[in-house]
Amino acid sequence: MSSRLVISGLRASVDGFEILRGVDLEVGSGEVHVVMGPNGSGKSTLSHVIMGRGDYAVTEGSVALDGEELLTLPTWQRAARGLFLAMQYPVAVPGVPVGELVAAAARTRGDDPAAYADRVTAEAQRLAVTDEFLTRGVNDDFSGGEQKRMETLQLAVLTPKIAVLDEIDSGLDVDALRDVARRVEAMTTEDDLGVLAITHYNRLLLGLRPDRIHVLMGGRIVASGGPELAGQLEETGYEGLAADLGVEEITLERPREVDPFAEPGF
Ligand code: ADP
Ligand code: MG
Repeated sequence: MSSRLVISGLRASVDGFEILRGVDLEVGSGEVHVVMGPNGSGKSTLSHVIMGRGDYAVTEGSVALDGEELLTLPTWQRAARGLFLAMQYPVAVPGVPVGELVAAAARTRGDDPAAYADRVTAEAQRLAVTDEFLTRGVNDDFSGGEQKRMETLQLAVLTPKIAVLDEIDSGLDVDALRDVARRVEAMTTEDDLGVLAITHYNRLLLGLRPDRIHVLMGGRIVASGGPELAGQLEETGYEGLAADLGVEEITLERPREVDPFAEPGF
């Protein structure tokens, strides 16, 4: 069955500071959408809000999967519905190897965990993840590159409907980048996976063959286009694009805490 993630008019804040300022985005099965944007433009916030992280308050809008509102559901239920997030900075789970993590995910879906064990082995081979990393706690003392391979392994084993990949390319050397991009791209064709990939770099895009590129600045999508938009960005840079579009806010500066005791004469 074909799936569709529909994000509309999404606004979210932290401590009253608005980070997402009305985001509209749709990702269907088999499609690859890429979100690019400078540091501090709200990319990771978007990924966390989609997945339901607690420290963001959603003030407006909707995130729906196949017509079902997700914003009212806890994270684990969003995952059980077929959503997956590879975090920019994955959390370490000392003492819990990936096999156990995946088995727990299988149980929340009502699947037999035993069926997932063989898949872990097969994917480890495909992604060149050695036994050592299968037996250690997930991400416990892993390098950046090892973490990203491990995220990709979980993605491939869990076969979600829609995957949000937050800088899955960061910290990867050329070989690892090729392995990860190939694996994700194969899932889009073989398993009809829909992908929302957040990245800074063109390198990932070469392997992923995106359908659409979206540029996020100041918590809004300011431009969307075909793959050529990434090449254009490479030339103009974010500031150049912002100038062309008349966008004033490129990154989000949180207002600094004012220290009343720092005032002279106090
Ligand atoms: P990006 O991933 O594009 O670099 P982020 O979404 O991480 O951007 O951050 C956007 C802005 O929101 C930054 O100014 C950041 O400091 C702020 N921000 C994001 N998450 C939090 C949080 N949990 N608490 C406080 N500020 C946050
Ligand atoms: Mg980020």
